[in-house]
Amino acid sequence: MTIFDRGLSKTRQSFFGRIAQMLGSGNIDDETWDDIEAILIQADMGVETTQKVLGELRRRGYTRTDELQAGLREVLASLLKTPPPLNISGRPLSIILIVGVNGSGKTTSIAKLANRLGVINQRKVILAAGDTFRAAAIEQLQTWGERINVPVVANKPGSDPAAVVYDATAAANARGKDVLIIDTAGRLHTNYNLMEELAKIKSVSQRVVPDAPHEVLLVLDGTTGQNALQQAKKFQEMVDVTGVIVTKLDSTAKGGMVFAIFTELGLPVHYVGLGEGLNDMVLFNPENFVKSLFDEN
Ligand code: GDP
Ligand code: MG
Repeated sequence: MTIFDRGLSKTRQSFFGRIAQMLGSGNIDDETWDDIEAILIQADMGVETTQKVLGELRRRGYTRTDELQAGLREVLASLLKTPPPLNISGRPLSIILIVGVNGSGKTTSIAKLANRLGVINQRKVILAAGDTFRAAAIEQLQTWGERINVPVVANKPGSDPAAVVYDATAAANARGKDVLIIDTAGRLHTNYNLMEELAKIKSVSQRVVPDAPHEVLLVLDGTTGQNALQQAKKFQEMVDVTGVIVTKLDSTAKGGMVFAIFTELGLPVHYVGLGEGLNDMVLFNPENFVKSLFDEN
């Protein structure tokens, strides 16, 4: 069983894995289309993406349910793309800005990412505690930093996040680090403040590294399904999001939202979170993802 299989067991057992059994083998009729539509909607694919999938399947002119099933896998896979590598090489310092609403899994994902980049990619990473809103948020990042042996630049709760980022860029350069990952607050209900804050963080990092940030990764909580997509659209209006990390796919049956990220937001999914541990985040792989939705591999 792969980590994808384990992580996606809920959505497999509730939805995609039941499709074969539900459709049986025989001829396609109106009920077949209704059944497929219902299952895709319930799996949180969203109306737009579901209609896109159904349209393509109908266009193919299948007559038998077994053809339809195989076709469904193909069509679903065609919606996904292998993410490009993160844009974090070839310059003295690369800066990754992490955004997303409170509780989506930003800080945890930063720890997982920093650990991966250090261990797998041999990059020298430093973190900035840019979520200065709560003391606990700063401490959480510092605790992770100690665990993974990555320095964390932080200031007092309530201090200016842009100043923390400035200090962090200076520290990164002074200590010869390759990658700076910036944690941020996620107060979406104060849209305006968040936008100002992110703009300030951006301009401060550009003072040190003119083309920063090189990646702006949006962290989306997979358990919130269609809500996460609405949030994502708001973030896209505020900052130039370059990619997505989908968290908590282990604790939800709503794996369908991953397809909607590609079709509705047009953003690559770089990583998916499949648990709370340091190693529970994997590179997104479209083929493995679709396979694990349908079968235990
Ligand atoms: P932040 O407010 O966006 O920084 O979110 P946190 O990183 O503090 O995470 C919020 C909660 O979600 C914590 O309890 C994390 O352990 C949990 N969490 C984050 N990612 C995952 C994941 O992939 N799977 C599960 N099951 N829990 C996660
Ligand atoms: Mg946090």
